Amino acid sequence: MDIEEKKKVAREALRRLKREYAVTGPFVEWSNPLELVVGTALSAQCTDERVNMVTSELFKKYKTARDYAEADQGVLEKEIYSTGFFRNKAKNLRGMGKVLAEEFGGNVPDSLEGLLRLPGISNKTAYIVLAKAFGKLEGLAVDTHVFRLAPRLGWSDAGTPEKMSRELGELFPKKDYLSVNEYLITHGRAICAPRNPKCGECVLSDICPSRGKV
Ligand code: SF4
Repeated sequence: MDIEEKKKVAREALRRLKREYAVTGPFVEWSNPLELVVGTALSAQCTDERVNMVTSELFKKYKTARDYAEADQGVLEKEIYSTGFFRNKAKNLRGMGKVLAEEFGGNVPDSLEGLLRLPGISNKTAYIVLAKAFGKLEGLAVDTHVFRLAPRLGWSDAGTPEKMSRELGELFPKKDYLSVNEYLITHGRAICAPRNPKCGECVLSDICPSRGKV
């Protein structure tokens, strides 16, 4: 399939997913850019529901970048324990607080370059933060669902999230970058599970090359 044909099919798929689902999450809950960065960082290898349970308490205590910078490692580990990889995540949150406090006046930067200065922040997280907190669509965030579904749908077989992000970014207009991420997450949870996807109930079954083959 050439790139123009691929674009047409991929955009048709997104149109159908938008018709099919009301994207209601669950997604990481936040009320300011700092909470979004922290919640998204905690969501690595963890469900958004679990993150929201943890952050509903965490955000009452840690309100500024300085609060994270000055957090006790052991205490913070206990507070975020149930999100998994708690040692590393606690270390990253403290490091993040320090960089934000010392280099950005306590504010979350609104640039990719700035966000990537923060420990534990990947391109994926940075793209989500830029899109959701600042309305800037600089790249398409490839999380585990996108990474799993895009090859099934024939959109990309890139071996890394970074390469896939670039390839998918060429198929969709920038305004759809966040939608592609959110609707593939929703579809991956609802129908196109890792095992035994429900192809018979899928709105993409006539345009999906993996129908009945997974
Ligand atoms: S047809 Fe099957 S494999 Fe393809 S997107 Fe739908 S559920 Fe997934």
